[in-house]
Amino acid sequence: MRSILLSACVVLSSLVACSEASAPAAATPAAAASCEHGVQPDICARCNPKLEAAFRAQNDWCPEHARPESQCVICNPELAAKGIK
Ligand SMILES: [Zn+2]
Ligand SMILES: [Zn+2]
Repeated sequence: MRSILLSACVVLSSLVACSEASAPAAATPAAAASCEHGVQPDICARCNPKLEAAFRAQNDWCPEHARPESQCVICNPELAAKGIK
């Protein structure tokens, strides 16, 4: 019984994590080509300024650097490891 509850919990939390992780555009495989900023072109707010509202709505926006916090290598130097510029 315990294990059933536990796995239901895991499924539920992975669903939540999944919906939280999805950016405005559907998440595409990591193999997708990156834009000049090292971000997938369809979710790059610097290539697509109109995405700003969508990122702001998700509370994922760095006003100082005018890009999503999740794409701000200035605030998050660890993003450089993913090739984000
Ligand atoms: Zn870009
Ligand atoms: Zn920033």
